[in-house]
Amino acid sequence: MNEEHSRALYDRALSVMPGGVNSAVRAAIEPYPFFVAKGDGGHVVDADGNRYIDWVMGLGPLLLGHDLPDPVEAAIQRHASRGPMYGTPTEIEVELAEFVVRHVPSVEKIRFVNSGTEATVSAVRLARGHTGRNRIVVMQGGYHGAQESTLVDGDAENPRPSSAGIPQSFAEHTIPVPFNDEDAMREVFEEHGEEIAAVMTEPILANYGIVYPEDGYLECLREITRDHGALLIFDEVITGFRVGGLGCAQSRFGVTPDLTTFGKVIGGGFPVGAIGGKAHVVDGFSPSGPVFQAGTFSGHPVTMAAGLETLRFAAENDVYDHVNRLGERLRTGLSELLVDRAPEYTVVGTDSLFKLVFTRDGPGPNSHEEQCVSGCRQEPTCPRYDHCPKTGADVRRSDTDRWRRLFWGEMKAEGVFLSQNGFESQFVSYGHTDEDVERTLAAYEEAL
Ligand SMILES: *Cc1c(COP(=O)(O)O)cnc(C)c1O
Repeated sequence: MNEEHSRALYDRALSVMPGGVNSAVRAAIEPYPFFVAKGDGGHVVDADGNRYIDWVMGLGPLLLGHDLPDPVEAAIQRHASRGPMYGTPTEIEVELAEFVVRHVPSVEKIRFVNSGTEATVSAVRLARGHTGRNRIVVMQGGYHGAQESTLVDGDAENPRPSSAGIPQSFAEHTIPVPFNDEDAMREVFEEHGEEIAAVMTEPILANYGIVYPEDGYLECLREITRDHGALLIFDEVITGFRVGGLGCAQSRFGVTPDLTTFGKVIGGGFPVGAIGGKAHVVDGFSPSGPVFQAGTFSGHPVTMAAGLETLRFAAENDVYDHVNRLGERLRTGLSELLVDRAPEYTVVGTDSLFKLVFTRDGPGPNSHEEQCVSGCRQEPTCPRYDHCPKTGADVRRSDTDRWRRLFWGEMKAEGVFLSQNGFESQFVSYGHTDEDVERTLAAYEEAL
């Protein structure tokens, strides 16, 4: 495979950008990332003309794939050509807000921002302003973007910043607990209940493997936050408009958070974030409330048009049926391959999310029927139940070096672009075909 151009570009990039990239995970590929020249349906073509089946899809935003349907592309062009933005409201913001309010059960009002990070930063500030409390509870292995309050490792007793540049005194307002652990959550509330502004979690951990909630766990979070006067924030930056269709993951699980953060799909491939929720909470944002929130680019007309037309297209076409069916084929096909090739590994994912976690412990199933055939659902009757990942730490203990250093490159050599490490999810888009799935499963069979 010729990679001359990518190599030369990376050489130039290293001279002018830290690590040669603008977002850390992109550099996880060794010895250097390939540079993309263009997308095409479910594929990307790199700077040297190599073509890959693309299961990264921008790390989540591209529900429709790289070829935008005509109405989406037309709306983007129309709004871009009118002069990109104004610093005063436009109709398209109202239309996207109305669409989200109509489809997402918990959202009565919404504020648009420019990234998932900005959404979670603002949600935390809003929760603190609303409750008059400072502490927030997050999940170990959860991800809420590059922000001070959530780049925190350790546990409830010893929270510490997970990045240089964050004061220990900031980290002390954050309480990390294991996902799927009701007892740990109850203990934290018994001890600090009066000080906790919010529990913030992804409804499905989707940045550290894909970890499904155990039956009743999200309900438990709902109950315990309500009992203690804290808010429940679902970070649906990945799951929003991907899991559970237009109702998002909260409609799948039937649990109604106080606040929801959005990003990725809701901007149709352009920079976006949003904070939605009950009107009396979201009205806490300035100018209606005391919690300052503002942004030059917020509600950008081109982004709003891309988001609205993407979601409308999904509402009017078989988008979710298509991506979920291919997701199911991938997960089922992978779990069939594992029976012979690597029975100790775990297939995870739901809807259009999929991943193979290189877990190492425990007996494998003797037959395909004995496991969660379409991806781990934390089924207590599954023979792998005791060994499937239930927390971020379980995923971290898997064979992530093998995944990244050996397996990823073999898949690339087979013409398949998977996410850059053993943690990040992979995404099916409307641009993918059954043939892409078949070729991908054949590549897994070679590489495993
Ligand atoms: C991607 C992501 C974020 C951060 O969004 P950015 O747009 O990258 O700032 C926050 N939360 C979750 C769950 C995410 O997956």
